[in-house]
Amino acid sequence: MPKSNKNQPKRRKVVYLDYASGALSAEANPGGIHEISMKEKNKLENARTTIARILGAHSYETIFTSGATEANNLAIFGLINNFKKPHIVTTNIEHASVLEVCRHLEETKQAEVTCVEVEGNGIVDPKKIKKALRKNTALVSVMYANNEIGTIQPISEIAKEIRHFNKINSVKVFFHTDATQAINYLPIRVEKLGIDLMSMNGAKIYGPKGVGILYVKKNTPIKKIMFGGNQEFGLRPGTENVVLSVSIAKALQEVEKIKNKEFTRLTKLRDYFFEQLAQISFFSGFPATQRQSLKKGNLGELTINGDLKNRLPNNINITVPNIPSDLLVIELSARE
Ligand code: PMP
Repeated sequence: MPKSNKNQPKRRKVVYLDYASGALSAEANPGGIHEISMKEKNKLENARTTIARILGAHSYETIFTSGATEANNLAIFGLINNFKKPHIVTTNIEHASVLEVCRHLEETKQAEVTCVEVEGNGIVDPKKIKKALRKNTALVSVMYANNEIGTIQPISEIAKEIRHFNKINSVKVFFHTDATQAINYLPIRVEKLGIDLMSMNGAKIYGPKGVGILYVKKNTPIKKIMFGGNQEFGLRPGTENVVLSVSIAKALQEVEKIKNKEFTRLTKLRDYFFEQLAQISFFSGFPATQRQSLKKGNLGELTINGDLKNRLPNNINITVPNIPSDLLVIELSARE
């Protein structure tokens, strides 16, 4: 053993005795009050502050979850738990983690649900949302951008309609958006969007899978849906995952830096792809104003699904006739 150098400061020996709470090999439990736990807690809270700052929110409005599915479940179940005969308004193109929750609530008679159909271009009309509102409407849940056809929903216009309805009727209808697909490319300042609840995950922003965030605006009467410890302001029990929380915060920080540039870069690439497709096919089923070149080609009549302008820059969704989509994917993967 090397002799100790008397001039060097003495190293503090740390004996960790909190394995029942969290094995040190991975990370200590941030819920403890000893020094190592406190360090973990600081990392977690710094991550929360970073995210809150990006959203233009308070730290205590930022809840870590296991992903967007859980965030959506917590938002919907958590909110309607407060209401006696709640009514929910949503759209027919929501992710399963919203639609299935609504279906379950309806089947078990815990809530009434109005599912507003989007227009032919895959975008919901804010006036139709307004028309669906009732005095006992507890929640409107409309996704920010769709995961399949990439259409961007008019969130702040819907928020405006809801605000008017609330004012005229002296009620408070809460507004939730699933922003999972949008955070990579669109503005996510919560006040500008006018929402009360917003779900996100790490997977879509080059962050880790298995972590998400639910933004819960101050004074939104949401209740926990899982029971256990008092973590995440009493809304989401279970030992916090510091590594995943820090990683999603970092990913979100990076996304914010490159968002605008990426939007422009990918829009160009996407439009180039559409142009190339138009050379070998012709598009149909689209408003004439938005129709691409109608040059006839050997792929037959392709349909672009969803609005061309109000869509995510990374999304292309087309229907190719006469070929089942799984077969098409196999055929395309076999090409160099
Ligand atoms: N909402 C949308 C719009 C999504 O695209 C996804 C993931 N495909 C989810 C929710 C579910 O996210 P997670 O896998 O993190 O639960």
